[in-house]
Amino acid sequence: MHNTMQALVKSEPREGLWLRQEPVPEIGPDDVLIRVRKTGICGTDVHIWNWDDWAQRTVPVPLITGHEFAGEIVELGRDVQGLELGQRCSGEGHLIGHTSRQSRAGKFHLDPETRGIGVNEPGAFAEYLRLPAFNVVPLSEAIDDEIGAILDPLGNAVHTALSFDLVGEDVLITGAGPIGIMAAAVARHVGARHVVITDVNPDRLALAAEVADVVPVNVAQEDMGDVKARLKLKQGFDVGLEMSGSQAALDQMVEALVMGGRIALLGIPPGKSPVDWSRIVFKAITIKGVYGREIFETWYKMIAMLENGLDVRRVITHRFPVARFEEGFAAMRSGRSGKVVLDWTAGV
Ligand code: ZN
Repeated sequence: MHNTMQALVKSEPREGLWLRQEPVPEIGPDDVLIRVRKTGICGTDVHIWNWDDWAQRTVPVPLITGHEFAGEIVELGRDVQGLELGQRCSGEGHLIGHTSRQSRAGKFHLDPETRGIGVNEPGAFAEYLRLPAFNVVPLSEAIDDEIGAILDPLGNAVHTALSFDLVGEDVLITGAGPIGIMAAAVARHVGARHVVITDVNPDRLALAAEVADVVPVNVAQEDMGDVKARLKLKQGFDVGLEMSGSQAALDQMVEALVMGGRIALLGIPPGKSPVDWSRIVFKAITIKGVYGREIFETWYKMIAMLENGLDVRRVITHRFPVARFEEGFAAMRSGRSGKVVLDWTAGV
């Protein structure tokens, strides 16, 4: 192993990321060192690339970015048990504390001390990643590296979709980005009746229809009332999964839901947005905010579903060796891509 490695670094407080030589991380007694093979580019990484207000407030400079990865364990800390060299793995990118009430109750995803790799701590856009052994998720042969590299966002989709019982239910998903599309595939896999996904971007709706057996609706062109009539929904949708962060989408969702409908919110609105709360009260609607993945129940369910026929591969629309990372980010920033995967094995 070399002493240095290639990494995609936010090395200056301005737009862009830079491929740099960085020291290979040293691991502590409870960590593993992972040789990264493939990584996914997230919307979060695009915020960091763009250096928007959120990124400026959140991300220290310099920082190795990236949090969606698959690789192989190449070094074990001396106290690590139950993992082996050569084990293929992905991992939870939220580094949690173990002292909060939530953590001590086993609700690790609700720990208020959470820090994210590639956001607050050195990340996975590198040839090597240090990760606490606790965060490692071993991969079976059924899950190859590129699927392993998108388990983080698939986990967001699974966590959101499994927030409420979907069996036999009519589900409305607003926002056909990669996570919305994967949530649609999950909703179908677990037995929802109708799954409608809305957006105003025709490319994304076309991709949604390719990846999952869903009804794509362009809300710039079609009225939700007509969609409900077409699907013969008596009242409306039972469950809504809000993935867009758009206020108009949330309004439409509340309007399209049945009395007693349930909404899981993953989309992040830009700042404060007005909500018609009386409508929500009178319709007796339940709203749940969703953050990250349940550690590790979401991972367990997601991997079990992937091993049992859940297929989201077509959501990956672009693949580049890391040397061409700029093309990968350009594809993401165009708004016309699904997931973009970077390959770190091609001798950077
Ligand atoms: Zn992500």
